[in-house]
Amino acid sequence: MNKSAVSLPTELISVNAIKVVNRLTDQGHQAYLVGGCVRDLLLGKPPKDFDVATSAHPEEVRELFRNSRMIGKRFRIVHVRFGRDIVEVATFRGPQAEIHEDHYTDSGMILNDNLYGTFEEDVYRRDFTMNALYYDVTRNEIIDLVGGMEDIETRSIRLIGEPDNRYREDPVRMLRAIRFNASLGFDIDEGSGISIRRIGYLLQDIPPARIFEEVLKLFMNGCGEASFTALREFDLYGWLFPSSHRSLDDARSEKLIRLALASTDQRIAIQKPVTPAFVFAALLWYPFLQERQRLSEKMTILEASHEAATSVIANQQLFTSIPKRFSGPMRDIWNLQFRLPLRFGKKPDVLLTHKRFRAAYDFLLLREESGEELEGLGSWWTEYQEVTGDEREKMKVKPGANTRGKRKRKRQRRPKDRMTTE
Ligand code: ATP
Ligand code: MG
Repeated sequence: MNKSAVSLPTELISVNAIKVVNRLTDQGHQAYLVGGCVRDLLLGKPPKDFDVATSAHPEEVRELFRNSRMIGKRFRIVHVRFGRDIVEVATFRGPQAEIHEDHYTDSGMILNDNLYGTFEEDVYRRDFTMNALYYDVTRNEIIDLVGGMEDIETRSIRLIGEPDNRYREDPVRMLRAIRFNASLGFDIDEGSGISIRRIGYLLQDIPPARIFEEVLKLFMNGCGEASFTALREFDLYGWLFPSSHRSLDDARSEKLIRLALASTDQRIAIQKPVTPAFVFAALLWYPFLQERQRLSEKMTILEASHEAATSVIANQQLFTSIPKRFSGPMRDIWNLQFRLPLRFGKKPDVLLTHKRFRAAYDFLLLREESGEELEGLGSWWTEYQEVTGDEREKMKVKPGANTRGKRKRKRQRRPKDRMTTE
């Protein structure tokens, strides 16, 4: 067994995680810190959360910690809670491939993963070598059976075992590879990468709700734009967002998506709130516009907007679920785009009080920046928010006056001819 003494930045280790490990080992169980926390500690980064792997069965773990509960359908995991801090405790998993073929679908995917195993078996059930390092708290040692230490040193994302098989067992591992590539800046090892390009279609077998969770981790974790780049590079984007993928032929669509993701990344960096609704609004904006245009030939533009939003969202939900709490705000952001040009009477002031105004305004700015020709609408709104009273009155734009910019205004020499539709 490959063990090496290490000096981890102990100040970054959760005292609660240590407590959990100690209580388990005191009771005669094996218990280690494992996974992302060990990887991050080796990189000198503060871990997001702490995972413990143990020989104790979930029921035994439950009994040892009053402050714990069982979670998970695929894997039964115990959450031990200390205030807001949660330590995740998982029992060693066994190798199911050979023995329990009925746990697999035709494509080789694991359906039921609830069988326990030994320490060694647990190691080989993990995804990447860098995620299969076990930290023995008492001895201050790392146990490395798969060459994970070296891969961390060379900054390499390498699947344990044969890539095609490991992705077939759980295609979400492909998305995890992308996420680590984007967030850690590690390279995906050649074998592990080629395989992704070849069998990315397997993501279609994953329930949309699970894909949605992974997409959130990709796009809402501070490295969204890099994740988008990596998804494209490894030919996975189309399996997650087919309509958005097709829209990328229009360079403005890609620009808009990148801007939305980059702005989300920046906001996360300075701890400002972010919402998937904004990102999804950008991902699907061009598919939505296109569908709206198509439908407008057979119904009113208002109906077309409504129908287009419904159908674009419904189609996307075949791939990633979009919970109502996000699809609602997303539609609001879209709908407001068609109200922002109406700058007469009370309309702008009413719009300013809309709970989604800010998001819609930010979205408008990104649309302009991505190359949509909106005749200065963004700066008009920026200025409108800066001035008050009389100045706002002066800024208002009569209906029709703004739609074609200067050219139209020249033609409209006789104001009497103009219709007021207010
Ligand atoms: P993060 O920093 O995002 O938490 P992580 O590697 O800790 O990254 P988790 O989802 O917390 O990711 O999973 C903890 C550990 O469980 C992983 O490091 C890995 O060893 C194992 N694991 C997670 N998902 C899978 C999977 N789909 N297949 C195999 N092993 C997995
Ligand atoms: Mg983790």
